[in-house]
Amino acid sequence: MNRRLPSSVAHHTTMETETPSFTLLNLPGEIQNKIVGEVGPFGFLLLRATCRHFRNTVPPLDMGELLEAECSDTGHEQDLYACCLCLRLRRASHFADKMMKKDKRKLAGGGYSRFCMECGLKPPPGKNGYGRGTYITKNGVVSVVCIKCIRLQDPAQDANGKITQYCMDCWARTREGQEMQRQKETELQQGRERREKKREEREQRRRERRAGWGSEYEDTDEERLEDISDDERYYRFLQTHIDGNDWRDTYVS
Ligand SMILES: [Zn+2]
Ligand SMILES: [Zn+2]
Repeated sequence: MNRRLPSSVAHHTTMETETPSFTLLNLPGEIQNKIVGEVGPFGFLLLRATCRHFRNTVPPLDMGELLEAECSDTGHEQDLYACCLCLRLRRASHFADKMMKKDKRKLAGGGYSRFCMECGLKPPPGKNGYGRGTYITKNGVVSVVCIKCIRLQDPAQDANGKITQYCMDCWARTREGQEMQRQKETELQQGRERREKKREEREQRRRERRAGWGSEYEDTDEERLEDISDDERYYRFLQTHIDGNDWRDTYVS
């Protein structure tokens, strides 16, 4: 890396603090240049972060230097990747899965077009990020840049369970989404009606039983009783309420 500091930096020999200790800034310009020339792209980032003087005088890294910096030891250790839109090194958590795979993984050559999710959703003026309706996978979970409201959201599913380019809210306002909603409400209503009908039938049977067998009979297991035949139910009734075999014998004969 043959990067030299601008002459204004190299000839800067005054100290920014009162501390009379050894600093890069009070070295002769030629030595400063020699050191800065050796630190590599990641060193430039650190240098720019050191003090306002270097931040103002060391030019920001271009994408080529950032791609070099992401492959430094620290770049690997900290899982850093370069973004071509904000020209920063950012942690992997800021990038969609695809932005760190195949031709866009480190050293693969396609990193020049890699951008972080933030920049993709809100690209700087004149730059292209994620278009409307783009699916973005992060940690295996798919989201969509809603084609309508352009927010990154969970995608809505259509009637066949296929994911759409809409968020749930916007999908609910489409014709197809409204039709799905109507159908769902109809199904819910039909379910309610079925349950109500069953309940009425159960009530009716209970009333009939009470009328026939007397009110002291308490139906404690409606659901089960419903599933057995009338004959079986009557037989059980007899077993529960009448002791001895005499009566049953009489009944059976
Ligand atoms: Zn970015
Ligand atoms: Zn939306």
